[in-house]
Amino acid sequence: MKSKIWLSSPHIGEMEQYYVKESFSENWIAPVGPHIIGFETAIDKYLKRSSFSTALVSGTAAIHLALKLLNVKAGDEVLCQSFTFVATANPITYLGATPVFVDSEIETWNMCPNYLEEAIIDRIKLKKKPKAIIFVDLYGMPAKIDEILEIASQYNIPVIEDAAEALGSEYKNKKCGTFGDFSIFSFNGNKIITTSGGGVLVSRNKEDKEKTLFYATQAKEKALHYEHKEIGFNYRLSNVCAAIGKGQMEVLSKRIARRQLNHSFYQDLFKGSKDITVFKSEDTNFKSNYWLTCILINTQAHFNKTEFINYLAAHNIEARPLWKPLHLQPVFTNNPFYGTTISSNLFNQGVCLPSGSNMSLNDRLFIAEVLVEFIKRK
Ligand SMILES: *Cc1c(COP(=O)(O)O)cnc(C)c1O
Repeated sequence: MKSKIWLSSPHIGEMEQYYVKESFSENWIAPVGPHIIGFETAIDKYLKRSSFSTALVSGTAAIHLALKLLNVKAGDEVLCQSFTFVATANPITYLGATPVFVDSEIETWNMCPNYLEEAIIDRIKLKKKPKAIIFVDLYGMPAKIDEILEIASQYNIPVIEDAAEALGSEYKNKKCGTFGDFSIFSFNGNKIITTSGGGVLVSRNKEDKEKTLFYATQAKEKALHYEHKEIGFNYRLSNVCAAIGKGQMEVLSKRIARRQLNHSFYQDLFKGSKDITVFKSEDTNFKSNYWLTCILINTQAHFNKTEFINYLAAHNIEARPLWKPLHLQPVFTNNPFYGTTISSNLFNQGVCLPSGSNMSLNDRLFIAEVLVEFIKRK
């Protein structure tokens, strides 16, 4: 039987194992070592604009520390894109603060600047001025970043860019991961490149990087003994995982090219379909890495997303619904929400298609065959 075609699985190059072996032979089996520095340097170089990366155990940890550096505390509120993975919002609650959710706009599927401003005005009226804003470049698509940053600066609220899914994407010819006060990346196994598990917090200056390191390594004061004036975390990435990341950075541009090729393949496949629209941006200011190719199923179609996903699953092909908006999640039912039905409609109609950079031509042909058959039957 044909092996399973995954939504997005790790795709290791030639150097990763070599660097991992190197960390063993040099005995850097610890959250310190040369590959951590090498991995961070590779990211800073790639991002080009003044970027200071800190390698951490996860993207979630990176968001947690970004909020901490922005001084978010118990009782505060943080504005957060609703249409995203739960990891965007969870760290807000780790600090005892409350996520206030904001709906998306239809062009990029990310935080709607109008709803954002509506939310800010209303929270200020309620004497709860938000402490920070987290927007996302979801599925690799850059948000309407200038509009978001403009509103944020007008009200003097700091911004975190969750670029977990957008390494290699560009907004107005600048790399995602370089906007706002802090950005984060994830290197989980399903992302465009991986460290098996890991994340990076990108700051804009050296001082913020030093503070990140301080909190990521138990907030140790400068002293011969262990002296602590503040609460810290154990969030530093292992040198072994960073070795994988260093190798992955060397193949990043190839991985992006393959994801974009998958996207073109699906666009060709569904060209002229009245039932299925492939999500993309026509505006060249928004260059997605197309981490995942997403489609919307027309509400008039003779099939729905569940039938579509189940049919693929029966052929050993993994597809998934889009992220369920966080304001609809049971755990966040009591959190405020600003918007309408943009993200909930996307959730109802959308599907993520297999998008791994390791998908072969045969895999794509097989997917095409299965999908053509499905649509013919409906
Ligand atoms: C993956 C992801 C995260 C979290 O990253 P981890 O490394 O898994 O902790 C955060 N936000 C978004 C949008 C993600 O897709």
